[in-house]
Amino acid sequence: MPAASEKVRLRFAPSPTGYLHIGGARTALYNYLYARKNGGSFILRIEDTDEARSTDESLRRVMEDLQWLGLEWDEGPHPETLVDQGPLGPYRQSRRLAIYRSVAEELLRAGKAYYCFMTDAEIEAQKQQAQQEGRHQHLNSPYQEWPLERSLERIKAGDSAVVRFRTSVGKEYVLHDLVRGEVRFPSDMVGDFVLLRSGGMPVYNFCCVVDDHLMKISHVLRAEEHLPNSLRQMMIYESMGWELPRFGHLSLVLDEDRKKLSKRRGATSCHEFKLEGFLPEALNNYICLLGWSHPEEKEILTGTELIDAFSLDRFHPAGAAFDIAKLRWINATHLRAKSDDEIWRLIDPFLKEAGLKLPEDPAWHKRSVAVFKTNLETLVDAVELYRPISDPHFAIVPEGQETLAWESSRKVIETWKGLLQAETSDHLTGEGFLKLQDRVKEMAQVKGKFLFMPIRVAVIGKPHGTELKILVPLISRHSLIQRAEKCLS
Ligand code: GLU
Repeated sequence: MPAASEKVRLRFAPSPTGYLHIGGARTALYNYLYARKNGGSFILRIEDTDEARSTDESLRRVMEDLQWLGLEWDEGPHPETLVDQGPLGPYRQSRRLAIYRSVAEELLRAGKAYYCFMTDAEIEAQKQQAQQEGRHQHLNSPYQEWPLERSLERIKAGDSAVVRFRTSVGKEYVLHDLVRGEVRFPSDMVGDFVLLRSGGMPVYNFCCVVDDHLMKISHVLRAEEHLPNSLRQMMIYESMGWELPRFGHLSLVLDEDRKKLSKRRGATSCHEFKLEGFLPEALNNYICLLGWSHPEEKEILTGTELIDAFSLDRFHPAGAAFDIAKLRWINATHLRAKSDDEIWRLIDPFLKEAGLKLPEDPAWHKRSVAVFKTNLETLVDAVELYRPISDPHFAIVPEGQETLAWESSRKVIETWKGLLQAETSDHLTGEGFLKLQDRVKEMAQVKGKFLFMPIRVAVIGKPHGTELKILVPLISRHSLIQRAEKCLS
């Protein structure tokens, strides 16, 4: 636990180039949880210096996904207006270019960075030569020792240059990573690297450090793939005399073959999971457990329970495989814990989207949910459960036709229809249905499958499926008569 005086500030820093990936969602979640647990702040920073790929549209998509997950940010672009909210903005890197430039100038003046005029061809030639001589060598810029004034004159004359960071030789950098423990980096892993490109655009490692420092970020939880970047980032922190935040590099989210989770294996973005009928609280619950575990190994956790239980000492360093069956189970558990009214409210848009026509009666909605909810894992599952009782979807499948062709079937259905017509209530009860079925048995003199299967076809169009005692009370008597007529015609 950080000292009370030390303000906990975490950020999620997406480069918005599409919908939020499930790995990104998990990163956002961990940062959010730790901020909330400690009464700190959760900041949304947009890493959009790759102008071509980062659009406002992608930004909005990412923000929508974060909002859907309930990961509200305290500082960052406003979800609708995109206007910055918070004291330490701007929060979009594309609006912070002057800040990066001034920090780069500070490093140039201090001799910790230099202008480099090497062309791509010169850099390539140096690489080739080192390769031919079998040497592993970092870039050796002839401009390393140029005095700043000399470089500035050349720039004034119209030449373009990148700003390169001067790396130290023969040093070791040690990162105390929250997930991986002590990670040692020899400084010669990297050569003098670019801070600002020749057009003045800053690179990720540079912006990230400047922003994390100026935005007073205390902890950085991010993807494992950024671990190697930490070396360059530590070098920049050191050269500016800035304090390092605490870093934690999270394990990868893998697919069932233990490869990095990728598109070709099905849904990978939050948006797709939303369309597939997963609940945000279930997705949060599940992705939180991909790389972190509850102290008592609890598996079903609400949002508040996640915040309460979250800590930085229970991350797993090994990659975690995404298990869709487990996600479905977690989703089902969260779903069934809701009231029947709430479940109806959640499934209704999916039923409408599928074109089902169902009664508008709230009492009916509740009754139907009570019947179907034990079979619901995702909201989309409701579509197939409700389809047989939606009138426009009543159709007789080939197996149903075969049942209708049996000699005794016509008699059964005619009797069933006649008894329905003699009833008065809008809907039969389960008991009422069983009584009617007994009377069909007596009157038509059939039993067993010759009784049950034709009636089932007359109700749902197929000879197998959910128990009729459960389904019949959900279908109006009027509709049951029409269905029977369709079987007879
Ligand atoms: N923009 C980077 C990403 O999307 C963020 C890296 C970081 O958190 O430092 O991966």
